[in-house]
Amino acid sequence: MNSCKANHCIECTVTQCANHCQTENYCALDRILVGTHEANPTMDQCTDCMSFEKK
Ligand code: SF4
Repeated sequence: MNSCKANHCIECTVTQCANHCQTENYCALDRILVGTHEANPTMDQCTDCMSFEKK
């Protein structure tokens, strides 16, 4: 039985994250923080989930 509480407002495909629901492509957190590692972001690859946690 999957006990992960998927937040259906936050879709995510990063299964390597400790907050990912694994069987469903959702995050389990109530909210996340998105940031950037670029000085001038121009595409989606420039953004990062700052709530990522290593398993
Ligand atoms: S914390 Fe970020 S990377 Fe991790 S599952 Fe949630 S949305 Fe995905």
